[in-house]
Order: sequence, then C-alpha cells, then structure tokens
Amino acid sequence: MTLDELYAEASMLSRRHWGVPFTGHIELVNRVWHNYNGKFVWKRSDPNAVPLIRMSRHRNAERMRSAVLGTLLHELVHWRLATEGIPHRDVNDEFIAECVRVGAPISGSTSAQNAYREYQAKRRYEERTGRKYDEAEAIV
Ligand SMILES: [Zn+2]
Repeated sequence: MTLDELYAEASMLSRRHWGVPFTGHIELVNRVWHNYNGKFVWKRSDPNAVPLIRMSRHRNAERMRSAVLGTLLHELVHWRLATEGIPHRDVNDEFIAECVRVGAPISGSTSAQNAYREYQAKRRYEERTGRKYDEAEAIV
C-alpha cells in the first residue's frame, strides 16, 4: 500500500470509530522488519513531536492488505488513546478494551497476549457474577 492509501484508510477508520479526522503522521520506512508490523511513536518530551505511525514498506508488501489494515487500526488505537491521555500500552486494559471494541488485532508479544487473557478472564468474571471486577478484592 502506498503512503497516500494508508492516509486515506487511516482517515476513514478514524472517522468511523471515533468520529474525528486522523491528525497523526504516517511514515513508511524501507527497513526489513521481522519482529513487528507497525509502531506507534510519540516523544512527548519533545514539544514539537507529532504522533507517528511507522510501518515498513517491505513488511507491508509481504502481508495481505487486510492484515496491513488490521495493523493500521491497531496503531490508530494507540494514537487515539495517547492523544486522549488514556493508557495506551499494549498491556493496558484500556488499550485492549478499545482494540476489542473496534476489532483491531492484539499484539502478538507474550506480555500483550498474557494481558489479553487476563482481560478476558476479568470480563468473564463480570459476566458470571454481574459485578465489576475489583483488583483489590481479587487479591484476598
Ligand atoms: Zn501495539
């Protein structure tokens, strides 16, 4: 996918899921990536930094368009929550909940997959008991 196509898709997805235009940046690098499909970068210590979604041309070319769009949506969830000041790391419940809501894939890393399983267990507990899962209570 070209950079223009990625911007067009990001704009559409952002309007569909959050009702706002996409105001971040997208960068396509030429490096060969094996361990990830996309990255969200935002150096908040730098007042001039803009939220950036980075993808690899090479990596995207190896993958199905639908998979690339899934990654784009996943990175958009990082962008959306980060710009709203909501916890947005791959292991945060807020992030996982938003990925589930919009249908974005969860990161394949071990820590993110463990967090996802925990998230699902908490939701099952809530469904079963009709009560909000409470970390403090659960420790007892
Ligand atoms: Zn992620």
